[in-house]
Amino acid sequence: MDAGLYIHIPFCLKKCPYCDFYSITDTSLQPAFMDALASEMRMNRGGTLQFDTLYMGGGTPSVLDAKAVGRIIKTARQSYEILSDAEITLEVNPGTVTPEQLSMYRCSGVNRINIGVQSFNPDHLSCLGRIHSGRDAGLAVNWAQKAGFKNIGLDLIYGIPNQTKKSWLMDLQLAVEFEPQHLSCYVLSFEPGTPLYRDRQEGRLKPLAEPKVCELFETTLEFLRDYGYVQYEISNFARETIDKSGFKNSEVNRSKHNVKYWKFVPYIGLGPSAHSFLEPKRYWNCTDVKKYIQYLEAGKLPLAGEERLSVEQFMMEAIYLGLRQTNGILIDVFDKKFGVNFKKMFEEVIGDFEEKELMEFSQNRCALTSKGMLYLDSIAAMFI
Ligand code: SF4
Repeated sequence: MDAGLYIHIPFCLKKCPYCDFYSITDTSLQPAFMDALASEMRMNRGGTLQFDTLYMGGGTPSVLDAKAVGRIIKTARQSYEILSDAEITLEVNPGTVTPEQLSMYRCSGVNRINIGVQSFNPDHLSCLGRIHSGRDAGLAVNWAQKAGFKNIGLDLIYGIPNQTKKSWLMDLQLAVEFEPQHLSCYVLSFEPGTPLYRDRQEGRLKPLAEPKVCELFETTLEFLRDYGYVQYEISNFARETIDKSGFKNSEVNRSKHNVKYWKFVPYIGLGPSAHSFLEPKRYWNCTDVKKYIQYLEAGKLPLAGEERLSVEQFMMEAIYLGLRQTNGILIDVFDKKFGVNFKKMFEEVIGDFEEKELMEFSQNRCALTSKGMLYLDSIAAMFI
């Protein structure tokens, strides 16, 4: 697989209380950030790598106008070898885009839009501290379709305090009515350091009970299956379409970029807090826009750290990432990569999970069942 290029846009109009991604609300630093980002791109750390995806995430990339997005794409193409038909994704948030802006993004080279809908329900959106309404979310999807985007992904969140199966089904229903090519359904997590985490710790907020969250996960799988969305990773679903040969195919609608993170394909991350992976090394940038700008103005790379993965670390990550995917761990690939016998190494653990119907093991594949996916972290921990 070709490599992926990720660009972190560190600005948001408002911080959401559950979010632990790095971003700031002071957009006055945007011009200096854009210059710094261009410098970082020109310092190309990709060597001779060829890229088939460019993903602008954040933060809220749609705080940038189309001219700025066009500049990023142009500089990236000048600095890296990016295939002409590369998947170029821009994350956008409802409430920050207009129809004209979306059309102009398309003209600037973006060919995939990922919209942070999260929910259409006013109570849930308010609990998540989002700036948009359900109507804004619907309009953003309509506008993206009218702008000619043929590859649209929607993000939804479930497991929100007070959420019911009925209200989650309503969100799913409204989402599939737009027939997006891709859906990501993430469970709300309480990340240490966030206001939402503090509210839970201090008793101001009661999280949804775990069995309820599990029920919503199962509801998601069932509902989306009925609507022709194929799960390929715990939280990700691609819509089945009829391909050129007349067969049903959902692979074309997967997020080509995100798949790289789960398959150990090299990726380069640019911008504050972005991570990169060039086997066997992983490195990351500083998590501060001002410092990031200072580094690059001084002609230095904005690195904050790096690590070389040991074989054991690598193996554990391959297991964790493999189990996230519905395809699971491909045994022959694993054995060849690490020079081991996966089946022999983990025979006991696998047998135990198979008995509990949490895992399926075949000649060349070890994958979680949908019941097993609910316990990914604890199952993966048993392989250590
Ligand atoms: S808009 Fe997205 S990146 Fe920004 S604070 Fe909210 S969740 Fe985080």
